[in-house]
Amino acid sequence: MSQQTIAFIGLGIMGGPMAGHLVDAGHDVVGHNLSRLAVDVLVERGGRAATDTADAVREADVVITMVPDSPDVESLVFGSDRGDDGILANAKPGTLHIDCSTIRPDVARRIAEAERERGIRPVDAPVSGGEPAAVEAALSIMVGGAAEDVEAARPLLETVGRTVVHVGPAGSGQTVKAANQLIVAGNIQLVAEALVFLEAHDVDTESALAVLQGGLAGSTVLARKGAGMRARTFAPGFRIDLHHKDMGIVTTAAREAGVAIPLGAHVAQLVASLRAQGHGGLDHSALLKQVEELSGRATA
Ligand code: NAD
Repeated sequence: MSQQTIAFIGLGIMGGPMAGHLVDAGHDVVGHNLSRLAVDVLVERGGRAATDTADAVREADVVITMVPDSPDVESLVFGSDRGDDGILANAKPGTLHIDCSTIRPDVARRIAEAERERGIRPVDAPVSGGEPAAVEAALSIMVGGAAEDVEAARPLLETVGRTVVHVGPAGSGQTVKAANQLIVAGNIQLVAEALVFLEAHDVDTESALAVLQGGLAGSTVLARKGAGMRARTFAPGFRIDLHHKDMGIVTTAAREAGVAIPLGAHVAQLVASLRAQGHGGLDHSALLKQVEELSGRATA
């Protein structure tokens, strides 16, 4: 793969390690982030620092964005009220824009249309696997966009991910990611309910989770989150705030399509409730706290 100049915007829990892998692969990575510390970490690994979005994208062959929510990506693409400080106004025609953030599919489609008008090649490529997979370059990446743009993005996506699948036109990656978040939230909630249930029956939960993992109840959620849930360690990982955003995306998109997601809608309410109780900064496995409360078994 030839060396490319990559503007990487959003160097948080996920973007930081992803940008680092691209540096390690020999690319010229120019980083921008709201807080400076994350940029310094990238520079230490061999990347370069940009002063702002315009500075980051001006010379880039590829722009990768990894920011929290739809309005964040919109403001990066369209710029502020001045309109001259975003990706649209500053990226060269032909630049590939890979958005790895999890955002609304309709927003991804609107951005893709605006970018295509300016000769920028849009790819939506949200990721799954969480921080460990970002660190291990083992993400699962669901990709939407035109086939030739997705193929141009593939070598970079394969540098940060292990499973990279083109799922359809612009916005499709985000639709698949919404389904991913529906499954993950439901799975965490049921693992939490099972754990509290087992504890109430004085079962050794370490052994119980080991045997459950070997059968049909086993899951990546159980494997990755089970031990932390048993120990009540809820440092993020994936914040409840972000999963609340994603449950909003999937419930809205389901409504638009006229599809009922009764269990998903219920879990969305449980995530919203946990956040309303002030736990938005905890890992999504903290859904367990709420099951304890509902069961009168809260410890602290
Ligand atoms: P994060 O909050 O850790 O990082 C986001 C970063 O973006 C922050 O460092 C922030 O400073 C930066 N940022 C925001 N707006 C910016 C702007 N305008 N210019 C420059 N920098 C800006 O979030 P994260 O956990 O890395 O998640 C990023 C995205 O990836 C989200 O859409 C999330 O839903 C998705 N995601 C997260 C995980 C996870 O486990 N954390 C897993 C899969 C997908």
